[in-house]
Amino acid sequence: MIKKYFDNLSIGAKIVAISATLSVVFLGSSFAYILGVSRNDLISLNVDLLEYELSSEDDVIRVTTKDIEKSLLAISETPPFQGIIRANKNNGYDVEGGSSYEQWKQRLETIFISQMKSTNNYMQLRYIDENGKEMVRVDEVGSEFLPVSEENLQDKSDRDYFKSSINLGYQNIYVSKTELNREGNPPVISQPYIGVTRYSTPVIDETTNETKGILIANVKFDSIIKDNDFTAYDNAETYVVNQEGFYMLHDDFSKRWGGPSDLNTGENIFLDYPMLKEVVADSVRGSKILEDNIFAYSWVDLGNIYKSEKWLIVVRMPSNLIFESINKATLLTIMFGLSTLIVLFFVYLFSIKKLLRPLKDLTEGAEIVGKGIFDKKLNTTSKDEIGKVAIAFNKMTERLRGLYSTLDKRVKKRTQELNNEKNKMETILESIGDGVFVIDKNRNIILFNHTSSNLTGYRKEEVLNKKYNDVLKFVDAESKTENYEFIENVFKEGKVCSMPQNTNLIMKNGAEISVADSAAPLKDKKGKLIGVVVVFRDVSVERQIDKAKTEFVSLASHQLRTPLTAIKWDTEMLYESTKHLLNPDQIELINDVLFSNQRMIDLVNSLLNVSRIDLGNFSINPEECDIEEIAEGVLSDIRKQIVDKSIKISKNYSDKLVRINADKNLLRIIIQNLLTNAVKYTKVGGHVWIDLSMENNKYIIRVRDNGIGIPERQKYKIFKKLFRADNVISLDTDGNGLGLYLVKSIIEQIGGKISFESIENEGTTFVVELPKTGMKRRDGTRKLD
Ligand code: ADP
Repeated sequence: MIKKYFDNLSIGAKIVAISATLSVVFLGSSFAYILGVSRNDLISLNVDLLEYELSSEDDVIRVTTKDIEKSLLAISETPPFQGIIRANKNNGYDVEGGSSYEQWKQRLETIFISQMKSTNNYMQLRYIDENGKEMVRVDEVGSEFLPVSEENLQDKSDRDYFKSSINLGYQNIYVSKTELNREGNPPVISQPYIGVTRYSTPVIDETTNETKGILIANVKFDSIIKDNDFTAYDNAETYVVNQEGFYMLHDDFSKRWGGPSDLNTGENIFLDYPMLKEVVADSVRGSKILEDNIFAYSWVDLGNIYKSEKWLIVVRMPSNLIFESINKATLLTIMFGLSTLIVLFFVYLFSIKKLLRPLKDLTEGAEIVGKGIFDKKLNTTSKDEIGKVAIAFNKMTERLRGLYSTLDKRVKKRTQELNNEKNKMETILESIGDGVFVIDKNRNIILFNHTSSNLTGYRKEEVLNKKYNDVLKFVDAESKTENYEFIENVFKEGKVCSMPQNTNLIMKNGAEISVADSAAPLKDKKGKLIGVVVVFRDVSVERQIDKAKTEFVSLASHQLRTPLTAIKWDTEMLYESTKHLLNPDQIELINDVLFSNQRMIDLVNSLLNVSRIDLGNFSINPEECDIEEIAEGVLSDIRKQIVDKSIKISKNYSDKLVRINADKNLLRIIIQNLLTNAVKYTKVGGHVWIDLSMENNKYIIRVRDNGIGIPERQKYKIFKKLFRADNVISLDTDGNGLGLYLVKSIIEQIGGKISFESIENEGTTFVVELPKTGMKRRDGTRKLD
């Protein structure tokens, strides 16, 4: 389907189609690749960004807590602690430092206050002795830092932070869980919420190395995690959660401090993003794309040895924000691609049109040349392949022009020659004294010579390309029935056919002339029949002379018959009355007279019959008769000859033979002639066969002998009047050569056929076919004898 459509396109359209397809594929795949790559890049870029954000936040926490730890240890190393320890050991006075317990206490309070002021990390600094009793304490109250009076100092020996840190040892720091600050007794969560993480470290007696209490600082969560530090990246949110996942830092304040030990809101990062729990359990640091978010996370351990507190920092960015920008980029890319394609398309179109212009000229030129006009010259300046083709085209048309004019001259010359030839032929044909016309296979007249015009009265133009039998009427002279069989037989058999005797031609003016001659096949070089040539001439004069001759013969024979019959009778009577007086020689003489007279009678009878046939005035009187009976009659008539020559006769009369409607006399003449000849021309002791049968709805009379046969070279003359073959003349003088002529004439006139086969010295077979309908009645002036 696509192929068929493609095949129908012009070259230009094909090139545009191919280029456009290639461009689409190339641009499409490039864009797809670029988009794929940029998509991944964008994601990893964002992940990097988040990780970077995270690490900076992570750093802030680590640095801050490190600072806190350092300052705590530094505070614990300050002299007042050892002064207080020494004073406590020596009833409230430190001999070494020269100061009382109270003085050292005040100095420590001063250090606490200055530390709290300078760092702003602490909301409370305390020294608790080894029994859990608060010894020195400074609280942040509003914007001030106030030492707590003696009576307000409390026993904290039951607190976790005390128990956990009292035995830690030198320079170790304990960090408590981060919780909301509580005030009062019983403690109540103070408002506004303040997240607090306790840092504590043991206080060691430098002289005994005994632990003499702890230094503990309540560090404000806000001082470690400052909101502003955690909003560096616009699209990301940072959370800080404790080990259980409860938020301590969240943009939404209502979600903060949801731990069960505090407000118990239940807000928890692992509830909001359930899959995160497993992810963060795996490693200390990392990033992960989960469903619609990109996460970067990091665990922070607080404290330097007793790592009781761990925070999880999570930076989250909704991935749809990234994809939105990717989609925007995709749309832009596609639009850019499409506009590039459109521009490319027009560029292709324009350049291909320009490129193919010479090709189009070439096509048009070829079409013009195809119409036989060779003047077309292509103007081309291009030096490419098409330009070369155009130059070749111009050369070709030039050559064609030359060839064409030579060819034209040759054709004209040849035509002239052919015309001369034709004129010659026509002149010959026109000057022939016989009428000649030619018909094609469709029976149309295609040639009609001058004599034909003279004989028929039709001008050439009146008959050419007309059906021959529509204009030219060949009829039987007697019956006037039209007869074209001799022409049609040529079409059927491809052999020369003679015009039947007594054929007349009806002229244009209605007059009749007697014509004769033949029709012959016209064949092409391969021997294929392409028409028929009919030659005819006016034989009216010959026929009149013939007729006069025949009439004379008829008259003469008739006149001869009477005296010959008289001689026969008289001689017989003379012989009968005088035979007892005659000697054998005289008897032989009389017999010779009788024999010769009989020959004369036979000859005269034959001549009479022939003349009657030629004049065409004999009658035909059909009646129901039996051919077998007639044959038997003839056999008995010639019995004497059969016996004399000891001829064996074989008869074969078919059962299927039915009676025939025929003129008995004519049938007898046919059978008698054939049988007489067979006996006559067969040597003594020979064999003659007579078969009567019905074949293909025809009566068949077949007479065969094993006699002397007919010489090959004379066969064609066998049915001619008065013809006798060479081999019989010496053998038998008793013949006149009229028998077969008579037989053939009768058979033709009653619509039958006669044929023969013969081999000299082997024998002869004559076959007569009579139509099943028998003979048609004809009234005539005479009968045949
Ligand atoms: P005729 O027998 O009187 O000579 P036909 O007209 O009967 O005349 O025969 C013509 C010629 O045909 C004969 O002279 C003979 O040469 C030849 N012919 C006819 N019939 C036979 C035959 N059966 N065998 C050999 N030749 C024959």
